[in-house]
Amino acid sequence: MSHEGIRFVSEEAARQASASERELPRDAITPERVRVNKTEGTGVDIGWKDGHSSHWSFAWLRDACPCATCIEEREVSGREPGQPTPPPATALPMFKAPARPKEVRSVGRYAIAFDWNDGHTSGIYSWHYLRSMCQCEACKEEASKSAATS
Ligand SMILES: [Zn+2]
Ligand SMILES: [Zn+2]
Repeated sequence: MSHEGIRFVSEEAARQASASERELPRDAITPERVRVNKTEGTGVDIGWKDGHSSHWSFAWLRDACPCATCIEEREVSGREPGQPTPPPATALPMFKAPARPKEVRSVGRYAIAFDWNDGHTSGIYSWHYLRSMCQCEACKEEASKSAATS
């Protein structure tokens, strides 16, 4: 494997790029409209340059955090990005406030990052990662098809 042509971004971004190696056309990973519905708490909407639009709930995004720690946690527990942690088997259910960003930061021109209300801040969500994780029916079907053939 050659390292030529790999843009140097950050360790996290490099990790998540290798985790989602699906090649996407430039227009598919260029956002034209980004709406973070922080007050409404409904999640993030992105309208892409190729005309596609994507939506993710904050809970999904929190559970799909692409930082090294969360990737490792998901690998250990066998969860897909966006899949919530199962409730603990103990008798007393702990109250968990629904995930919401306290702050949204843009990371260069390639990503956004959230300061979550649970204190976690290390995930960098690149446009490529978000687009490859689009939750619309068409994309989910496409993803399951390519997972089945590979
Ligand atoms: Zn994380
Ligand atoms: Zn989609």
